[in-house]
Amino acid sequence: MINKKVIKDIESLQKHIKSAHPSFYFSSQTSTVIPYDKIESTLDTDNDYYLCDLSQMPKSMKILENGNLKVEGAVSWKEAREFLIPKGKTIKTAPTEELALITAGAATSCTGERCFHFGNLRSQIHNITYVNHKGETQVLSKDKPFPYQSDRLKVYQQEFKLYENYKNAPYPRFETETDLLIGTEGQLGVITEIEIEICDDEAVTHLFILLPKWEENPQAHMEIIKKVQAFKNDIILCELIDSNAFSFLSEEDRPNKGLDAIFLEIKSSSFDKVYEEFIFNLSCVNQEEIFELNASKFHNLRASIPRAVFEENSRMGVTKMGTDVQVKIEDFEALLAIYQSFSKLGVRYNLFGHFGDAHLHFNFMPKNEDISKCQDAFQNMYKEVAKLKGSPFAEHGIGIIKQKFIKEFWSKNQIDLFQELKQNYDPKNQFFPQGFMNLR
Ligand SMILES: Cc1cc2nc3c(=O)[nH]c(=O)nc-3n(C[C@H](O)[C@H](O)[C@H](O)COP(=O)(O)OP(=O)(O)OC[C@H]3O[C@@H](n4cnc5c(N)ncnc54)[C@H](O)[C@@H]3O)c2cc1C
Repeated sequence: MINKKVIKDIESLQKHIKSAHPSFYFSSQTSTVIPYDKIESTLDTDNDYYLCDLSQMPKSMKILENGNLKVEGAVSWKEAREFLIPKGKTIKTAPTEELALITAGAATSCTGERCFHFGNLRSQIHNITYVNHKGETQVLSKDKPFPYQSDRLKVYQQEFKLYENYKNAPYPRFETETDLLIGTEGQLGVITEIEIEICDDEAVTHLFILLPKWEENPQAHMEIIKKVQAFKNDIILCELIDSNAFSFLSEEDRPNKGLDAIFLEIKSSSFDKVYEEFIFNLSCVNQEEIFELNASKFHNLRASIPRAVFEENSRMGVTKMGTDVQVKIEDFEALLAIYQSFSKLGVRYNLFGHFGDAHLHFNFMPKNEDISKCQDAFQNMYKEVAKLKGSPFAEHGIGIIKQKFIKEFWSKNQIDLFQELKQNYDPKNQFFPQGFMNLR
């Protein structure tokens, strides 16, 4: 049976954890890998199971003396940005879904468009406060080593090296103490506070570049992705929205003339350099197809399309069928070739995402009768991604929906280490027991 509980303060959280009921703790419910529309049937067990809503935990924010931001409770990325901007500061991580909570962002090891310049959230987290299986509040620090040391962990860390340059790997990075709760998706405790780095709110300029459709001719895409890598210090984000994704906007809101578009946020102090050394030298792009956009239009365009795609799938009753694959820059053409083969399956689709990081979301928008065809295509794709040593789930995590695709990427060692961690940090198996750490 499923029970629902809204947790409104730390004391109630501690009390509930001490009761040891198996529970799923959620925040803003924007995860694309948890099927929230059918969560009760997905998680239902014979036990007395609880769905625990953390979105009403009391919230507060404070800039500390060391310049970091301390976030307590149910603070979203949007609220943090709005708190910081009047102080001349801003956040370094910006997931496209700004209503997600920052504490949940640590649990999912979230990233986002600004990762191109600033790296992932994990690298910006200094401390995490969480409630453990005994109901005790504990603080984890980035400056201390991973708290559980064993020979198995050494092998795990060795195997992780394959993925160390990706935003996220097919299994969490266990190096520092904070990593116990980063990317483990709430399976080892509940995060209540977090201390993250912030930065100055620098002046920026927004450009978008129109280019031919990637399905027909990816030459311009390839030229840009290779050349933009040299400008990571100057360009904050480099995103793609393809011509199909624009169709989710009303016609008068589409600036793309039926083409694909790359969006760039450039530090204004670096604009001349970026223009002269990068943009002006692009041989596959028509210089007349490069435009400046104001900041609000730029951000609205960027955020509204992924949201519309997600909402349309929910409306159609289809669980999101999107990819979250990141590959090495030198393998990007191979990834596009896989997506080109998907585009020929006769199923509606679109492509967008974090282009500069070689990390795109290809979304099928299937009718019910097309779903198994799309599943087969994904199954084959993950085999190819494994051969390329790419990262299959670079930012949205594994949740429940991606568990069926994991086997190409794990050895017995990951499974055994997860079991040891669960036994140590969740001996009663009360934290999200259906999560990936319990897979056999
Ligand atoms: C349109 C759209 C765009 C998106 N863009 C991005 C993007 O750019 N980058 C990105 O990384 N993600 C993105 N996402 C995915 C999603 O926003 C992130 O995974 C986000 O971190 C989830 O936050 P949430 O508050 O909604 O968490 P929920 O969906 O409520 O929970 C997600 C997971 O975290 C666990 N959890 C939640 N809170 C806690 C806590 N306090 N302690 C421990 N565990 C917890 C839950 O058990 C669950 O497993 C996008 C989603 C959508 C719909």
